[in-house]
Amino acid sequence: MPVTLFDLTGRIALVSGSSRGIGLALARGLGEAGAQLVVNGRDAATLESAAGELRAAGLAVHAAPFDVGDPEACAAAVGRIEAEIGPIDILVNNAGIQRRAPFVDFPAEAYREVQRVNVDGVFFLAQAVARGMVARQRGKIVNICSVGSELGRATIVPYTTSKGAVRMLTRGLCAELARHNIQINGIAPGYIGTDLNKDLMADKAFSGWVEARTPAGRWGTVEEVVGACIFLASRASDYVNGHILYVDGGITAAL
Ligand code: NDP
Repeated sequence: MPVTLFDLTGRIALVSGSSRGIGLALARGLGEAGAQLVVNGRDAATLESAAGELRAAGLAVHAAPFDVGDPEACAAAVGRIEAEIGPIDILVNNAGIQRRAPFVDFPAEAYREVQRVNVDGVFFLAQAVARGMVARQRGKIVNICSVGSELGRATIVPYTTSKGAVRMLTRGLCAELARHNIQINGIAPGYIGTDLNKDLMADKAFSGWVEARTPAGRWGTVEEVVGACIFLASRASDYVNGHILYVDGGITAAL
């Protein structure tokens, strides 16, 4: 009986950056919970292959390739999706990038690209989708934040800065949109093995540090982020708003 709380049948979910990594796992999870999926990424071939994988698993999937950092592309894509498929009930702002360099040498262009994708991408895609949600007086937005909004780390200052902004975007949108029956929450993953950090995982010293620093004693998997997303996308979380749920093996809880 309580499982119906998490049922997403009849809902349309757009997951940005879902051609691989955490986003692909989130799309699969939302699809398995019943949602019709719209998957996204920039590289059309990778996106088609992800969509094919999800279809092969019996899920209803549409592919929408666009760059979340381009406001006009976001508005056009949302217009197309809503005209051709239907109203977007659930938006997961997952697309994100990371660039690493010492702060004093960080190239201005790389800094701007991180903010463009990680911050502008969340702002403008949420804006395009929220217009319809406000009109319908219903919606769920889940922003993929990071423990990087809480914990500084050398060489990724632009990334942690961007994730701090996404944390406050989540709270600010809650303050403004909650009265329209829209819930905006965040998920802050800890260290999860994906393309984003595969070089760090392969680095024994760094990987050992993650294992020692994380109370769970290990890296997380993409599948371990899924439950939080289904919760925040479903009616089980209808009175949860502006919250950041840490899925981090305890790393933000302990020194
Ligand atoms: P990956 O690098 O594995 O995947 C990123 C996805 O985003 C890809 O599908 C990529 O496709 C897409 N993407 C990147 N830029 C854009 C863009 N401009 N427009 C549309 N899609 C884009 O990353 P992860 O799965 O590791 O990360 C997903 C999210 O989780 C990010 O926001 C990240 O910051 C966050 N996160 C990850 C952690 C981790 O340990 N992995 C920890 C904490 C947070 P394409 O390149 O084809 O566009």
